[in-house]
Amino acid sequence: MWHGVGDIRLDEVPDPKIIGHGAVGVVEEVGPAVHGFTPGDRVVVTSTIGCGTCAYCRAGCYAQCDTANPNGPDVETVDHTREDPVALVKELTGGIGVDRVIDAVGVDAERPKTGPAAERAGELADAFERERAQAAPDGDPSGPPWAPGDAPSQALRWAVEAVATAGSIGIVGVSGAVDPTALITRHEDPVDAVAAHESFDRRDEGRLKTVLDVA
Ligand SMILES: [Zn+2]
Repeated sequence: MWHGVGDIRLDEVPDPKIIGHGAVGVVEEVGPAVHGFTPGDRVVVTSTIGCGTCAYCRAGCYAQCDTANPNGPDVETVDHTREDPVALVKELTGGIGVDRVIDAVGVDAERPKTGPAAERAGELADAFERERAQAAPDGDPSGPPWAPGDAPSQALRWAVEAVATAGSIGIVGVSGAVDPTALITRHEDPVDAVAAHESFDRRDEGRLKTVLDVA
């Protein structure tokens, strides 16, 4: 019990008041759905609430609990020229990876030239160049309105590496050079691109992975 700065003592008091965001106590009564506790148990209530059963809780990352904290207020912007995005995602999720990845970059992707992710990406430079030549043989890398990236499958590769087991990857705007057919549930004609994006945005049934076929 806090008596003053630097003066904390263990006291016996009849009706303790808890100040702060944690609590201790004795279970007085349990409902029919409660298992694992019986009246008389001494318990600690932590400040971090977790369901105990979701993937994050099972990995011990209670603060990331999907059930208690479904909207995930923590947003991290990752600069892939300064950090390895896959390594950071794994670190932030306790090694699990993320539940959902949306690759909205596709063949525009640029591989990092600096930072910890650059070396591994650089080893794939030749493979990336073959993909680019296949995906955009007539593309002008220097000019508008559209310039192909130098690593068409970079975003998809990171997506696969960063997604959790049994997670999902959404793909918007992928062309022929990258073959994610194992992931695809829908094909669209090019004229349906806008409708496909709208449907994807509405999270319509079955609209998990979309490929826009390039004519
Ligand atoms: Zn949980």
